[in-house]
Amino acid sequence: MSHILSAVAWPYANGPRHIGHVAGFGVPSDVFSRYMRMAGHDVLMVSGTDEHGTPILVQAEQEGVSPQELADRYNRVIVEDLTQLGLSYDLFTRTTTRNHYAVVQEMFRTVHKNGYMVEQTTMGAISPSTGRTLPDRYIEGTCPICGYDGARGDQCDNCGNQLDAIDLINPKSRINGETPTFVESNHFFLDLPAFVDALGDWLRTRTNWRPNVLKFSLNLLDDVRPRAMTRDIDWGIPVPLEGWESNPNKRLYVWFDAVIGYLSASIEWARRSGDPEAWRQFWTDPQALSYYFMGKDNITFHSQIWPAELLGYTGGGSKGGTPGPYGNLNLPTEVVSSEFLTMEGKQFSSSRGVVIYVRDMLSRYQPDALRYYISTAGPESQDADFTWADFKRRTNDELVAGWGNLVNRTASMVHKNFGAIPEPGTRQPVDEALLAQTTTAFGRVGELIGTHRHRAAIGEAMRMVQEANRYVSETEPWKLKTDPDRLATVLHTTSQAVSDLNTLLSPFLPHSAQQVHEALGGTGTVSPLPRIDEVTDLDDPSRQYPVITGDYSAVPGWEPRPVVPGTPVAKPTPVFTKLDDDMVEAELDRLRQA
Ligand SMILES: [Zn+2]
Repeated sequence: MSHILSAVAWPYANGPRHIGHVAGFGVPSDVFSRYMRMAGHDVLMVSGTDEHGTPILVQAEQEGVSPQELADRYNRVIVEDLTQLGLSYDLFTRTTTRNHYAVVQEMFRTVHKNGYMVEQTTMGAISPSTGRTLPDRYIEGTCPICGYDGARGDQCDNCGNQLDAIDLINPKSRINGETPTFVESNHFFLDLPAFVDALGDWLRTRTNWRPNVLKFSLNLLDDVRPRAMTRDIDWGIPVPLEGWESNPNKRLYVWFDAVIGYLSASIEWARRSGDPEAWRQFWTDPQALSYYFMGKDNITFHSQIWPAELLGYTGGGSKGGTPGPYGNLNLPTEVVSSEFLTMEGKQFSSSRGVVIYVRDMLSRYQPDALRYYISTAGPESQDADFTWADFKRRTNDELVAGWGNLVNRTASMVHKNFGAIPEPGTRQPVDEALLAQTTTAFGRVGELIGTHRHRAAIGEAMRMVQEANRYVSETEPWKLKTDPDRLATVLHTTSQAVSDLNTLLSPFLPHSAQQVHEALGGTGTVSPLPRIDEVTDLDDPSRQYPVITGDYSAVPGWEPRPVVPGTPVAKPTPVFTKLDDDMVEAELDRLRQA
């Protein structure tokens, strides 16, 4: 038994999330966590909404609300969507809790005390008409590198380079079009060069990572410079140093704080669990394992910035130092990055209407149909394209006609012939062969999920579904009316196979796993689902917010469970909904009209 931290990327709370987001970080981390619980491990799955940074400010300004109001709105939307999708977070919280502020400030103080936050003077923009600081992202101009016209002060979306606003050609304020003036501004830079050796030593032991993630991470070390961890912005976490804390225009960089969310959410979970120190077994026990799930655009922050923050905190860089009160925090065991999902051959784009939001998807289709699609056809180790035609085909041909049909005809035949799971007679080799296959599949499917090869894992489970359907076709139970002993053996064997397959598929399909369990007369929970709790901020009684949490202790083990003869089986209703012929056209019409 291991302690396993499932650290899932924090969705940004500036709007609703689309299925590309949950394909990258959401479903894969949930499948992994569900499997690890069933395999007997102690799993802590945490995340939350990321609520600081300029995009929240810009969006709030556009909508005429405060940044906190905007974050409140989308935090709730995201919480509801992820819950409906069945993502089994132990705690899904947010970055505007007082607990998060305190943990982030403690991290900063100790990293600073250990000498890894270097103060440097840069040139920052102010608005000549208001005298106020103009954040980098509010400045637009021509990219000095590629000549692109709409480059922002922090980054050029055309060539992808990080920029300094002062280097833009013809810089203009995006707020009122005026030309900013540049004044000296002090900032703290994380001394990344001081971690190059430690990061390299650590990365070179990470041989089991996906090759492209490891290669990308190692390449980052070739060109490492100090990176600003404070910003001229008035929305974010105050810099916890004298002379800085009270300055309303200096805040910690959103990425400095967002990655600390994994730690602060673990601490919040422990505080809410009644054992405030319980988080330590996932963070400071050298035997504990930690897996970070994200899309490939965030690899830098998880294989470089976050490990550097951790090394700075524990004194693991070239300048030495001593750990703060959190102790020797573990570096990530694995950074599990997915590739990108596109839709009908195009990049997802809310502004261009190339999008299907999680909420709209779940209002029209079963959550397990989306989870099935993501698990079988998602961007696991290469970019993937979501098409409505493929979604329909996989749902109807594989989920409904394959797995759903096996469940339905098994329960129907058991109900009609016996009304309960029958007592088996003597098994023939064909019966033994089927059960031997489903039994040995546990090892293979488990190994594949544990090493983040979910497409292969669910493919293997679905191959067993085909084997079970073939068994039913070959043994022809509908022709065995005159041989009740053989009929009982075949239907008992089929019921056992369905039960085994349901266990194998339950990390992928948690909603239907419960229904299949009940279709065979099972009682109790085999596939726990998350819930939303309305909680009060632990350090500010005036604040309430929703969290995702749940009790996942009821999961069965990752092994076959014998079906019990005599268990009543009712007439089944189909578990999966077949999609209409015209749904593809209807969805494509929606896209065209957007
Ligand atoms: Zn450029």
